[in-house]
Amino acid sequence: MTRDEIVRIYSTSGTTGTPSYIPLTAGDLENWVTGSARSYGASGVTAGQRIVTTYNAGPFVAGAALGAFERLGLSHIPVGTGNTERLIRAIELLGPEAVTLTPSYAAYAAEWAEERGVDLRSSSVERVLVAGEPGGGEAGFRAHLEDAWGARVTEAMGVGDIGPSLFGECEDQQGMHLGARGFVHVELIDPLSCAAIGLRDGASGELVLTHLRHRAAPLLRFRTRDHVQVRMTSCGCGRTGPRLRCIGRTDDMLIVRGVNVFPAAIRDVVTAFAPEVSGHILVRPLAPGVKQDPPLPVTVELARGTGGAGGSSSLADAIRERLREVLVVQAQVDLVPWGSLQRSEYKSKLMER
Ligand SMILES: [Zn+2]
Repeated sequence: MTRDEIVRIYSTSGTTGTPSYIPLTAGDLENWVTGSARSYGASGVTAGQRIVTTYNAGPFVAGAALGAFERLGLSHIPVGTGNTERLIRAIELLGPEAVTLTPSYAAYAAEWAEERGVDLRSSSVERVLVAGEPGGGEAGFRAHLEDAWGARVTEAMGVGDIGPSLFGECEDQQGMHLGARGFVHVELIDPLSCAAIGLRDGASGELVLTHLRHRAAPLLRFRTRDHVQVRMTSCGCGRTGPRLRCIGRTDDMLIVRGVNVFPAAIRDVVTAFAPEVSGHILVRPLAPGVKQDPPLPVTVELARGTGGAGGSSSLADAIRERLREVLVVQAQVDLVPWGSLQRSEYKSKLMER
């Protein structure tokens, strides 16, 4: 391959250090669009429908996923990130069947609309396609989003260094299918020992990906830092191969008295207490590093219009008990009033040290 075959160069957002540059040949770009189109196509969007997207094309790999929407025959309405007024107006005026955003932004936009008397449940939107962070696949958080939007929520997932929207979920909502099948190879490892973990039903570990057909700077056994769970049973949609659910970033993994815990899993348990809670949480580990002594401090925000001191202690007790039952983790639950925790139009920070 020669330098003049490179048609595009993206960069990663560099959340773990300096950005890396990702060159693509025309064939690489074509494979990215094909894989992304398969991933988003799994959600059930069909040619002729309209989709509003909130990703910025910008320097990042996610921009390449935008080509997938035209490939699917959708009418693509880009509104970019961070302008909720424009997003909601586009939905009201243009009547899209689908919207794509991060799960945090989906939650934020629903709150924004509700505060202004806009009823998203009666809008044209039938499908909310979420990507960019875990959340869309967590049962409790998904139910919260589906209720707020009156729409079916499915998730997709890409990995900055490997490609956009490699995985996408079908309408069965049982995990993400590998849209980039044939383009990337999937493995799991134990993030601490780096030992390989077999792709058995229910197995979980850090996702490791290898480019199979990428020509410009292909990566071998790239550690994604994403912790995933794998399902191997057959899917109602007929697609075969492993399905993934992202549980969290390997960097966010905590071990509390020998038990692995991810902040997104804590949020999922807490969100099931809606309408008493808002769905916003913050995990505040006391010790540096992975290992934590119990109890693990978890701040839980109450729903709008609640917060009477009377009911709070029994609610905190109930949440603490459920966390112990479901995640086998001993937590210290602190309830805070509506609006105390930071909202995000991009990705939520679920943990603060
Ligand atoms: Zn399926």
